[in-house]
Amino acid sequence: MEFGNFLSVSTLSGHQKETAADHSCIFAGLVSTYNEVGLSFCGEGKWRNANGPLAAKRIKLYYNYFPELANLSLDTHSICSIHYNQIVINNQFYEHLVGSVQESQTSNFDTVEDNPRINITDSMNQLGSIQQFLELVRQENYQKSQLITELNGQIELMQQYIDEQQNEIEELKNKLQRAYNNMAEVF
Ligand SMILES: [Zn+2]
Repeated sequence: MEFGNFLSVSTLSGHQKETAADHSCIFAGLVSTYNEVGLSFCGEGKWRNANGPLAAKRIKLYYNYFPELANLSLDTHSICSIHYNQIVINNQFYEHLVGSVQESQTSNFDTVEDNPRINITDSMNQLGSIQQFLELVRQENYQKSQLITELNGQIELMQQYIDEQQNEIEELKNKLQRAYNNMAEVF
């Protein structure tokens, strides 16, 4: 890999060297397709080489999201100021893409701004809250099954009470019958 022309070579020296501004922005052809997901339109300003070490490293992160980008040569393209800001300097757009694809595998970040430890911490925190949630659900289920057991006990008591009442009614009926019989004998 060539790191020589990291800095934009606007040649004041008079040599007929190609400058970054001679090339088109590597994202120019992608804007129409990916403007929907937030890729900015090209802008004026300082042009930089797409094959500078930082730019190249950052641009390659987007190959997953913009497959066409992988077919474009970094050596024959530049990057406009708008896309330099959006793609190279800031991580916001990348995080937006990662978030919208819901990609959880974020361990292959390798720029200065991206601390893999933060991502691992995020995942651990997420895992922690999922565990808390599951624990709550488990407790709730336990409480519900306790309640069901309690209600079953109450139903059983009610059943016993009904049985006793039926026996009592039966006894009263017998007494009444005997009373009738006695009366019939008297009259
Ligand atoms: Zn551009």
